[in-house]
Amino acid sequence: MKEFTMKIAKNTVVTVKYKLSDAQGNLIEDGREPMVYLHGGYENTLPKIEEALDGKEAGYETMIQVEPQDAFGEYDPSLVKIEPRNRLPAPLEIGMQFEGTPDDVDSDEEALIFTVTDIADDKVVLDGNHPLAGIALRFSLNVTEVRAATDEEIVHEHVHGPNGHHHAHDDMDDEDDESSEGDEFRTHLIH
Ligand SMILES: [Zn+2]
Repeated sequence: MKEFTMKIAKNTVVTVKYKLSDAQGNLIEDGREPMVYLHGGYENTLPKIEEALDGKEAGYETMIQVEPQDAFGEYDPSLVKIEPRNRLPAPLEIGMQFEGTPDDVDSDEEALIFTVTDIADDKVVLDGNHPLAGIALRFSLNVTEVRAATDEEIVHEHVHGPNGHHHAHDDMDDEDDESSEGDEFRTHLIH
């Protein structure tokens, strides 16, 4: 009997081991946990990764470089702000992250994660850029598994089960959970 090999296409669930480095080859993330995502433009992963893997099957390996505009954006200097130290909790360390909204934009603007990048006597520098903004990223990708998505996964637009998205299947309050969908990849990267 001929073995059926599933190709990556819309509504397949892809398990891919990855290593992430910058364009100079400096390792950013060694991807000990594989990424498991629902393929097909659901924004579960970067579109450039989907593009590279579309039509491939388990065992496929490749290396792609993704420019900032196709990854976490160009670095935006206007997202750097200086706050009085007493507006932030103590103790404070460089690298700590806070969620906040930029002051000078409409209140319905999405909250940003601000990273403390400098601390002076009474001032703190907060940077609202994603830590990987402005960086060309190089992904080495190794597809380990491809399977058909379940109907439920397609409706929810994300993967269920091991290494996928976990939530209580009380579909009534799935709403607030959905707002973080696009961030799954991101939170995976910065820990
Ligand atoms: Zn779900």
